Formats: sequence, structure tokens, C-alpha cells
Amino acid sequence: MVFVDIFEEFFGDIFGGGRGGRGERAGGPQRGEDFRYDMSISLETVMNGSEEKIRIPTMVECDTCHGSGAKAGSGPETCPTCQGMGQVRTQQGFFSIARTCAACGGRGKIIRNPCPSCRGQGRKRGEKTLTVKIPPGVDTGTRIRLSGEGGAGLANGPAGDLYIMIDVARHPMFERYGADLLCQVPITFTQAALGGKMEIPSLNGKGRLSIPAGTQTGTRLALRGKGLPHLNRPGVFGDLVVEVRVETPVKLNKRQRELFEELASCCDDDSHPESKSFLDKVKDFLDKVAS
Ligand SMILES: [Zn+2]
Ligand SMILES: [Zn+2]
Repeated sequence: MVFVDIFEEFFGDIFGGGRGGRGERAGGPQRGEDFRYDMSISLETVMNGSEEKIRIPTMVECDTCHGSGAKAGSGPETCPTCQGMGQVRTQQGFFSIARTCAACGGRGKIIRNPCPSCRGQGRKRGEKTLTVKIPPGVDTGTRIRLSGEGGAGLANGPAGDLYIMIDVARHPMFERYGADLLCQVPITFTQAALGGKMEIPSLNGKGRLSIPAGTQTGTRLALRGKGLPHLNRPGVFGDLVVEVRVETPVKLNKRQRELFEELASCCDDDSHPESKSFLDKVKDFLDKVAS
């Protein structure tokens, strides 16, 4: 599908770009182009959905000539070249060939004194406000179609559509994986060893996380249903996955230091199985080297 950026379409020629004319293709009705509008939204909007107002460029009736294209006091006149038919016929042998009248462009009317505001176009650039309903659960790449809000059709053809292209901005706290959210949370040395409960912020209120005793850095704990809503499954939510990081205490005061030293003196292999397993491997390795 090819989309035309709505701002490029309307403002492109100002910057020397633009896509050129739409083609003066003669013939039947032609559907208008589909326009694209890029919209950046937050994860909070993904959670709750919203109604966003957007202002888009559009062609509006010229308020000086009220759409006639003629200067005040004058009006469109019947084209003298085609007598208002919009076509001229030329004879070629036995055939009579009809061509679009070049003098009036096929409209059958000409404007002798064009309106200075719109240079005889009857329309000029303006803006309109549209309300875009963003359903909960959208993701980057989701397209929302506004039917009939694209480019105007030619020769009574239907208007194109306007597509809102969603881009979800990065969140400082949560990483998104589909409907699941991942959040890194530091826990204290003692929380990790003893276990406990802590409050975790989520996008739809707080969640209470149970930390089991003996939790290691990198452990992932899930808060079921505290993630994002599924786009096509109303009422179903993903999980909030908490990745725990054990924070080693720093800047110990005298009392804390004493306690840690006391703790160190009574720690044994049973309380540190990973360290024990590593030391065993080191011992085996050194034995092999020695023999
Ligand atoms: Zn005008
Ligand atoms: Zn004409």
C-alpha cells in the first residue's frame, strides 16, 4: 500500500518537493489518495486508550470568493471557446474527435477576473481538526483508518482514507514485549536474603511483589495481569515482569560494617552454594595442573 504523507502532500511544494501533479488523466471517476499521519503516543495511552485531536491540512472553500474563484463583483463566465460544453470537436477525415477544451480545462466556464486570495482556485489551504480514537493495546506499526479523510476524488470519485500510523515512545521505566512489560527493580541485600514484599509501580496502579528468600540478581518475577491490554482481546492483560537486581550496599557506617563482618564470620558453604561449587571447580582445576 502506498501512502502519501499528508503534510508532504499539502506543504511539499513549499519546500520545493512535492510529488508533481496527480495527472490530468481524462476519464471516469478516480479515487483520492490515501494519506498518512504519523502519531507518537506514550505507553500510558497504550494502557488506557484515548481520543486524540489532530489538526491536518486540507483544502477549504476560499472565504473571499466563497468558492467561485472569481473576484468580487464578477463571476465565472461561459467559456467562449467551447460555448460551455467543456469539449471541442475537430474533424479528422470521417471522424469527429472530442478533446477537452484547453481554454477552460473542461469546466465550461472561465474566470476573467480571478479572486486574488485563491488565484481563481475557489479553494485554499486550511486546516481541520479530527478526533482519532486510539483503542487500548495499540503498538508501533498499528494503523488506524479514518475512512474518507484522505485526498479528494477526481470526477466524483470517492475520497481516499487517512491512516494514522502509531509509534509508541520509549518509556523510562518499562520495556514492552507485546502485552508484557519488563521492569528492572533493585532490591536490597537483606531483601534478597530474607525475602519480603514490596510495592511495584505499574501502568494501572501499584502491584505487590513477593520476593522469595534467597532471590538472586536476574531473577524474573511476574505480576500477572499488570501488563498492557491486548489489542484484540478486550479485558485481557499481559504481565508485568520484574527483573530483580540485588544492590550491594555501599558507604557502610561503623555499625553496619561490624554486622557485615560478623555475618561474614558465620557464613558457610550451605548459605553460598554457588560460591562453594565454583571453589570446588577451581580446586579440581589446580589439582589437574599440579599432577
Ligand atoms: Zn477566492
Ligand atoms: Zn472551454
